[in-house]
Amino acid sequence: MNDCLVKIRDLHVEYKTDKGVFGGIQIIHAVNGVNLEIYKGEILAIAGESGCGKSTLAKAIIKLEKPLSGEIFFEGSDMLKMTKKELKDFRKKVQMIFQNPYSSLDPKMKIGDTLKEPLKINTDLSDDEIEKTVEETACKVGLDKDCLMLYPHEFSGGQRQRIAIARALVLNPKFILADEPVSALDVSIQAQIINLLKELKENYNLTFLLITHDMSVIKYLADRVAIMYLGEIVETGTVDEIFNNPKHPYTKALLSAVPEISGNKKEKIILQGELPSPANLPKGCKFHTRCPEVMLKCKENCPHNTEIKDGHSVKCFLYN
Ligand code: SF4
Repeated sequence: MNDCLVKIRDLHVEYKTDKGVFGGIQIIHAVNGVNLEIYKGEILAIAGESGCGKSTLAKAIIKLEKPLSGEIFFEGSDMLKMTKKELKDFRKKVQMIFQNPYSSLDPKMKIGDTLKEPLKINTDLSDDEIEKTVEETACKVGLDKDCLMLYPHEFSGGQRQRIAIARALVLNPKFILADEPVSALDVSIQAQIINLLKELKENYNLTFLLITHDMSVIKYLADRVAIMYLGEIVETGTVDEIFNNPKHPYTKALLSAVPEISGNKKEKIILQGELPSPANLPKGCKFHTRCPEVMLKCKENCPHNTEIKDGHSVKCFLYN
């Protein structure tokens, strides 16, 4: 049986925003009743269109967003009830890699100092030990020792993302959250960073939560995938199972846009309409306004999650 690192139960996250010229406040229902497990040593990808709530879910998991309700357990401890000491320990074990490596690095700090900073704040290591840890970490991500004396602007986009990954690794975390880690990079560089993440996961038994809209990245990098639509997880399964045997109409549409390596043509499913606003969620199945297989009951009732095969679940009346 897989060992669970993170367990999420019925998580809801909401924001209040200004309605602008019309005045008043509107509530954005960003995450709506998510249940999810992340197993030790795996890469779990969350996929979905921009605005589906995947980044908000990720931020709630690392305590950058306060949930409205629900539970998140990390190594069995309830994260929403952690003491200050537990929280400090949690911050060392969990790190994040952001989409834009340039804006996530301080332009006025040498790379060596950027990598030393978390060690100075969070550990009791001596200066020599810090120096050694920083050099070892730079080496893990394929950076030369001489790079540590340089500033972020002296590196290419790909090297800057390696630095951002090194900063996430320097505290020897257990869990890394990567939010669109290659989408800001040139296509020619993306493969290098994807391969680096795969190597790190395999060599250091790290657990990753990968947030991306790019199904090709998921196919190559992830072990399992959760498909998200309007704040709900609508399908989960292993990458093999989801790519070869997708069930939810939304998953099928997302996958129809991924080019086949074999060159075989497949029919592209074009969804009608825009993603509805999370401030104004549709009644019934949230996908019914765009679903090519919509039925009458989908407009009034919400489907529940059904496990159709070991580890493969889908939230759709076609399988309830
Ligand atoms: Fe489509 Fe109905 Fe399934 Fe929703 S429940 S995905 S509307 S078939």
